[in-house]
Amino acid sequence: MRVDAARLRRDLEALGAIGRTAEGGVSRPSWGAADMQARRWLQERIGAAGLESRVDAAGNIFGRWQSGGPVVMVGSHLDSVPNGGMFDGALGVLAGLECVRRIKEEGIRLRHPLELVAFTDEEGAFGGFFGSYAFTGTLRSEEIPNLKDATGLRMVDAMARVGMDAMAAPGAYRDPTEIRAYVELHIEQGPVLETHGVPIGVVDAVVGFRRFGVTFRGRADHAGTTPMTDRRDALLGATDLVQQGRELVLTHGTAASRLTVGVLKVKPGAANIVPAETYLTYELREASAEMLRSLADRSRALIADVASAWGLTVSVETILDIEPVPLADEIKGCIVTAAQELGYKHMRLPAMAGHDAQVVGRVAKAGMIFVPSKDGRSHSPAEFTSDEDVERGANVLLLTLQKLAAG
Ligand SMILES: [Zn+2]
Repeated sequence: MRVDAARLRRDLEALGAIGRTAEGGVSRPSWGAADMQARRWLQERIGAAGLESRVDAAGNIFGRWQSGGPVVMVGSHLDSVPNGGMFDGALGVLAGLECVRRIKEEGIRLRHPLELVAFTDEEGAFGGFFGSYAFTGTLRSEEIPNLKDATGLRMVDAMARVGMDAMAAPGAYRDPTEIRAYVELHIEQGPVLETHGVPIGVVDAVVGFRRFGVTFRGRADHAGTTPMTDRRDALLGATDLVQQGRELVLTHGTAASRLTVGVLKVKPGAANIVPAETYLTYELREASAEMLRSLADRSRALIADVASAWGLTVSVETILDIEPVPLADEIKGCIVTAAQELGYKHMRLPAMAGHDAQVVGRVAKAGMIFVPSKDGRSHSPAEFTSDEDVERGANVLLLTLQKLAAG
C-alpha cells in the first residue's frame, strides 16, 4: 500500500492557495482570516474522508478513525509565519490525512485507532505551541490573558471573535495514557538532507535553548578627551563576547551547536560618548542536554572573563531555558524499518527548530520524519520540497503509522 501522491499534491496546492501572498508565499497567522479559512477547509476534507471531525477547547482540529484504546496520532500545524512557505506544518497535516485516508480505504484492521491533529498557533503569532501546550496540560491559564500578537491583539479577543473562549483552552488536556504515539512529518528547514543526498531524516531529538540576556557596564566618557587606554568601553566587552563565543561553540560544541547574538543595544548611544552599557542576547541551541549544559557553563565563565579583561562589570539573566527533547526510540526504529522496506536512504539528525513533537514528546512517545528542504530554505516563499520527496516522506509515514498502530 502507498499514499495517493497526486491527491496529496492537490491537497497541498489547495491549502497553499489559502493565505497566498503576492510573493508566492503563505501568510496564515493563527486565528486570522486565512487561518480560519484553512481550518474550515481541513474540517471539510476530514469529513469528506469519512473521519470523525472534532475541534477541542484550544482550537486543535482532529480527524479520528475508529474508537477505543490508546491512539496513534499524526499531524502538525496549519498556521504559518508571515509570508512563509506552503510546506511548513501543512505537509505534516496533509500527509497525515492522506495516510489515515489510505489505511481506511484499504480497510486495514489495526489494534489502535488513528487520529489526525492540526495544533493551534505552533508558529507563535500569539507565543507559540498554544494548541500542543493545552493538549499536554502545560498551558498555564494565568498566562492566557497576556498572549498578544505583534499588533497588540490579545489571544482572548482573537478567539472571542471566532466564538471561542481562550480561557477554556486548558480543557483541551488529553490524558497521556490515551496516547500510544505521535508522529510528525515535517520539512527539515535546513540543508543537511539535501547536502547528503538523503531523502529521509530520522529525527533524534529536538534542540533545547539557553538564552541569556547579558549586560556589560563600563563608564560613559568624552569620546575626544578620554585616551584609548583609559576607557571602560562596554561595547568592547560585547563585541569580544560575540567573537569568543563563536570560537567557544566551534571548539567545544558539536555540529548541531548554535550560538546567536541577535540583539545588541548600546547606551547612551551617541557618536561622541564612550559606550557605558551594552545589552545583548546570547542564545545557545543544542540537541544534547549534557552538551547544552556544558556550553552554557563555559559561556558563563567566558562572559565573566571578558568583562574583567575590559574592566567592566556584567550581569547575566536567563531569559529562556528549554531542555532538548529526545524522541522515542521505538518510533525511530519504526521509521528506520519503514525507510529500509521502501528502499530509501535515511540518516539521523536533530531538529534545530521548535515543533509540536517536542511538546507532545515530554508526556508521550513522539517521533519526527524529515524530508529535504531545497537550499535549506524555510519561513520564506522560497520554501520548497519536491513532489518525489513529499511522496517518499508520506510513504514512510504511512508504514510507520501502520507499525505503531498494529503493535
Ligand atoms: Zn512547522
